[in-house]
Amino acid sequence: MDIYNYIDGEFTLPISGNMLDNLNPATGQIIARIPDSNNDDVATAAEAAKLALPSWRGLTKGERINWLNKIAQALEERSEDIAKTESMDTGKPIALARRVDAARSISNFRFFAKHAEQLTENKFTMADATNYVIRKPVGVVGLITPWNLPLYLLSWKVAPALVMGNTIVAKPSEMTPMTANLLAKTLDDLDFPKGVVNIVHGLGPSTGQAILEHPEISAISFTGGTETGKIVAKTAGPMFKKLSLELGGKNATIILDDADLETAATGAAKAAFTNSGQVCLCGSRVLIDAKIYDAFVPKFIDAVAAMKVGNPDDESTDIGSVISQQHMEKVLSYIELAKQEGGTIAHGGQRIIPNHASLQNGSFISPTVIENLSISSRCATEEIFGPVVTLHKFDSDLAAIEMTNSTQYGLAGSIWTSDTARGKQLAKQIDSGILWVNTWLHRDLRTPFGGVKNSGVGREGGDWSLNFFSELSNICVKDD
Ligand code: NAD
Repeated sequence: MDIYNYIDGEFTLPISGNMLDNLNPATGQIIARIPDSNNDDVATAAEAAKLALPSWRGLTKGERINWLNKIAQALEERSEDIAKTESMDTGKPIALARRVDAARSISNFRFFAKHAEQLTENKFTMADATNYVIRKPVGVVGLITPWNLPLYLLSWKVAPALVMGNTIVAKPSEMTPMTANLLAKTLDDLDFPKGVVNIVHGLGPSTGQAILEHPEISAISFTGGTETGKIVAKTAGPMFKKLSLELGGKNATIILDDADLETAATGAAKAAFTNSGQVCLCGSRVLIDAKIYDAFVPKFIDAVAAMKVGNPDDESTDIGSVISQQHMEKVLSYIELAKQEGGTIAHGGQRIIPNHASLQNGSFISPTVIENLSISSRCATEEIFGPVVTLHKFDSDLAAIEMTNSTQYGLAGSIWTSDTARGKQLAKQIDSGILWVNTWLHRDLRTPFGGVKNSGVGREGGDWSLNFFSELSNICVKDD
């Protein structure tokens, strides 16, 4: 299957004609070819987006909300196709792709349609004048997204950008282009206005970089790794583009001495290994009060051992493959490093070749639990972004806070306790954008989402997304 760019409402080959292979990481098979787009393709997309801007921003907010609802409805009609495609492109279990990827991609459009309805204009009255704060679109916006939650994260940006009247040049990850293509097909089937959403496929340093550098693209919303985030900031910052950076994490799961150990063990296992540990919010370090360490760890390992690894097509699979063979090698090299750093493997620790003919070249890793590593070791501080978790003991709540705050990251974390007030108090002292108490990945889309330190700049979600994708102007009118 060949995937084309979607520019100005047309599916087009890249100008160079060059294509890249796209693989299913569970089978190692090539499943599609995608455009290897360059500056010229991005320039064509940016021009289309620029030309489409006046009419799109000229629609009423209500008309744009109607479009979002139509897109949600059309995506819902192909939700099984989205789930199957996402599972094939990423190697994630079909049940997870249905429950999370397909469901959330649809709800992102519905949510922002509804959330935009409640936006009101601020008005500030003076003795002799009135200030009207109005919103305008930013203009043409560049959206760059990663491979772990492909359509989920793309739609999380596309929906608020559209509802605020912007036009779009988007680049999905070169490793997971297929559901962005489904979105393009959905828009095309709906006769969505041409040029409003343009999807350009290709590699980060060429296609992505061209989006960052294009002078007509006024804002960049980027989700991806911290190192790439630095390049994004370095390129777009001096051009004074509006920037949103959602970057990496090394999140802690904290088990306090009064936690319900069964609930905490199940919760910590889910936080560590959902999507093979490839969610930026995954809890890849579990910090456990020393008083309950010996009681907690066997329960945790039991919960991990109960997770079924293997065929993504099997409805009962909990953990599929990681995103690529290269990524598998990286994750396995961290497991080797952990041993060199003095860690002991309490569970897993190796590649798995499932007992299924088509999966012999797949990139599967058993969920891996590592004990006895220093909290400052590389494996406990660097983002591995795979099914690997390290366990650490702490002696006091203060020590837990210090350990949690000791990395360069500050994205998310969870605290498990039977005293929610204590959990909330501790959460306030952690340098992170998102903290959960006795739950994980429990999302209300109205809340702010984003990280501190090297986990990012800015917030997405609810009003924060609508603010990012709009420019505020104050009009001060002197009374007659
Ligand atoms: P990545 O940084 O390698 O790639 C992300 C996107 O950026 C891809 O589309 C890629 O092609 C593009 N890109 C790469 N180089 C570029 C350049 N020079 N200019 C412009 N674009 C470029 O990240 P990844 O490996 O795809 O995703 C995994 C990372 O994403 C992890 O670090 C994870 O924590 C992070 N992530 C963060 C969040 C969040 O909300 N904070 C969510 C999901 C993933």
